[in-house]
Amino acid sequence: QSANTALSDANKELFQTNQNLEDANQEIQLQTKRKSAFLASMSHELRTPMNAILGFTRLVLRRSGNALPDQQKDNLNKVTDSANYLLEMINDLLDLSKIEAGRMDVDVKTFRVETLVALCCDTVSPLVKPGVVLNYEVDDTIGKAKTDEGKLRQILINLLSNALKFTEEGEVRIDVSQSDGRISIAVSDTGTGIPEAALRTIFEEFQQVKGSEAQQKGTGLGLAITKRFAELLGGSIGVESKVGEGSTFTVSIPAIYRKNER
Ligand code: ADP
Repeated sequence: QSANTALSDANKELFQTNQNLEDANQEIQLQTKRKSAFLASMSHELRTPMNAILGFTRLVLRRSGNALPDQQKDNLNKVTDSANYLLEMINDLLDLSKIEAGRMDVDVKTFRVETLVALCCDTVSPLVKPGVVLNYEVDDTIGKAKTDEGKLRQILINLLSNALKFTEEGEVRIDVSQSDGRISIAVSDTGTGIPEAALRTIFEEFQQVKGSEAQQKGTGLGLAITKRFAELLGGSIGVESKVGEGSTFTVSIPAIYRKNER
């Protein structure tokens, strides 16, 4: 009899614990939603004045740039640089909060992979340092993909900009291959490399490797967004790296996007 009572007490306790956990879980989900909604609306509100600062600074430079002393022109250019950097950060935050809130849409269309890769290399070409070459190779078998071109472009540009930022000499390259309906993209560099202990955390928000000089201008959001975008397209991202030798980031996504593959 008493054993039975003990058992039923234990059962009740378990039930209560379960209930508490469920309540806590719901509360966390609610708070996360609130945080994302707050971030999304705040980023949006921040963008409007930032664009005004950028627009009006450009206007002054264009209309009266020639009349200004060099020093003042220089100062206005610094305003533009900082405003651009801030806008980039705000856009990153907006992207992240949209993804977290489940409000990031996937815009599917058909496009040539090689054209996209060439375009991305072109876009980042101003970041290539004198001792570095940027190359790409796309497998002949890869024709078109049917997925979100804009997001894939952002993935590639993020990885390429990082590779170029952390490479002083040697090569940065993209290799694209295909197997089993998946496109595999490797972005490799001969740069600083990433310490093993940091490899697990670099895909998390606001994580930068301590002590590296090149990271100064970063936000620590690039790889977090890159990973979320890859997952959004039904794919994944991985990294291999050796300090002093370089890094390879590999993204694999389905060549044809399907909604339920997320
Ligand atoms: P950030 O805006 O700081 O570049 P990321 O999320 O893109 O943020 O990267 C996080 C950190 O990972 C970087 O600060 C850098 O320390 C490290 N990292 C990323 N890519 C590379 C790379 N190709 N080579 C060396 N370190 C890298």
